[in-house]
Amino acid sequence: MPFRAACLCLLALLLAACAGDETPLSEAEHQLVTASHMDETPARRLFGRVRAAAPATAAVYGGYSRGCLQGAAQLAETGPTWQAMRLSRNRNWGHPELLDYVRDLSAFAATLPGWEGLYVGDMAQPAGGPMLTGHVSHQSGLDADIWMLPARDLTLTRQARESLSSISTRRAGGAFVGDNWTEQHWHLLRAAASDPRVARIFVFPGAKVWMCDRETGDRSYLRTIRPLHGHHYHFHVRLNCPAGARDCVAQDPPPPGDGCEEARQWQRNIISPPPPRPGPPRPAPARGETMLNDLPLQCTRVLLRSQ
Ligand SMILES: [Zn+2]
Repeated sequence: MPFRAACLCLLALLLAACAGDETPLSEAEHQLVTASHMDETPARRLFGRVRAAAPATAAVYGGYSRGCLQGAAQLAETGPTWQAMRLSRNRNWGHPELLDYVRDLSAFAATLPGWEGLYVGDMAQPAGGPMLTGHVSHQSGLDADIWMLPARDLTLTRQARESLSSISTRRAGGAFVGDNWTEQHWHLLRAAASDPRVARIFVFPGAKVWMCDRETGDRSYLRTIRPLHGHHYHFHVRLNCPAGARDCVAQDPPPPGDGCEEARQWQRNIISPPPPRPGPPRPAPARGETMLNDLPLQCTRVLLRSQ
């Protein structure tokens, strides 16, 4: 009976919607995926065209470099102590906890001499996921790039926020801090890394060594600051999985200790690079295109709801 069949079908859809996100895709969802060729389209294209997050409870699915985000919140383009930069990229989205963190850190930044707050770089796309350009991570709504350029003017126009550049704070390829580095950068990074919501902060090796050499108080935050190449125009904040986010895949915590010796090794390797390994250079592993199938199943659902 057609009416009964329609009812059953509707019921099945409702059940699928209510049953939580671990259920396999329903027939209807599956048909939508194939009809719109989502299964054949690189995931970065699918996520790159989502313009806004669908209203939903915030949920992180997967990890920083292979995941997505449901119910993302959008950081206000301008707040009392921050401005989001490069608005055309539409990457000022994140898990609500990331937004709270960025707002809190910006309020601290505004207390530093010469700083009115923060210029906030890339966070995540409205549904998270892989990006068309730039980052490997920033997929799960828990990563944010904070500019090294002190925010002195919080009235920048959209256009100015496209053209203004940050400043590099390194010299000698990142082995040491450069002229643009200030004590305020140290205090900002210390505050950023001391927050229990933070899993890791990535910054160029010379900055970490500089802090290691000067910190005479509590050194525990240094463990959270991880040396990495690049990261001299901005530093990268990565939050822990929020409490109760059971589908969020965390990273192993950093090794115990302040990590200063490791940072000094990075520094030495920049100053005098170790000799290349004997034999032919190892080819870089081929990085295949990430497809929807490579992401948690829930990410397909997040995309379907975002269309
Ligand atoms: Zn980053």
